[in-house]
This record gives sequence, structure tokens and C-alpha cells, in this order.
Amino acid sequence: MAEDCLFCKIVAGEIPSTKVYEDENTYAFRDLNPQAPFHVLVVPRQHFVDIVDLGQDAAASAGLIAGLRGLAEQESLDNFRTVFNTGAGVGQSVFHVHAHVLANRPMTWPPG
Ligand code: 5GP
Ligand code: ZN
Repeated sequence: MAEDCLFCKIVAGEIPSTKVYEDENTYAFRDLNPQAPFHVLVVPRQHFVDIVDLGQDAAASAGLIAGLRGLAEQESLDNFRTVFNTGAGVGQSVFHVHAHVLANRPMTWPPG
């Protein structure tokens, strides 16, 4: 657990969250400020700063993808968008890697 990391504290249950899914490697909870009717954050239980940091650990990377699959299966999601913000310049505000999973509204491509 990283010092002063909001999502480490959420994973540990020290800060409340609305759990949607969890497994051995991942924890998924509703975003506090949802950008779609379904907006869930999927995080590895282990602390990594961003997707580049996570990518150094093949097992942890696979664990996060498996968590996304588990969430999609559980929630019967077949159309959804997955976003990893990487760096403050594109809006990353919490530096514990997280997949935004967005669904249940029309979405354009490319994104803004
Ligand atoms: P980022 O901007 O880093 O890609 O995404 C961080 C996300 O975390 C934002 O969408 C924000 O709404 C969400 N968030 C920030 N603080 C909390 C919190 O305490 N609880 C929950 N559930 N979501 C949070
Ligand atoms: Zn963390």
C-alpha cells in the first residue's frame, strides 16, 4: 500500500466506496462523479502509478484485464468504453492506475 494513495485506501476499506465487483487481484467501484449512467473504476489491489508502470508487471497486467472481463461478465456489458488516463496533462488526477469503464449512453468516436 502506497502512502497517501486514495485508491489504496479504498481497496483497504479505509475510505468507503460502492463496490460493484472484486476478485483476487482487482477491486471495482462506482466513480464519485459519473460521466455515464454506468461509470465504474477498476483498480489492481496492488499499487501502480499508471498503465505504463503496471505494464512492467505481466502478471498484474493480466490480472487487471481479467478483472475487466469479470466485471463485464457480471454486469452483462457488451458495449462499453475503457479509458486509462496517463499523466496530469490528459486529466489523470489519482495516481493509482485505474480503468474507467463507461457504458449505457451514446458515445462518439474519436473522443473529445
Ligand atoms: P482520473 O482523473 O485520475 O482518470 O480519474 C479519477 C477518478 O476518480 C475521477 O473520475 C473521480 O471522479 C474519481 N474519484 C476521485 N475521488 C474519488 C473517491 O473518493 N471515490 C470515488 N468512488 N471516486 C473518486
Ligand atoms: Zn495506490
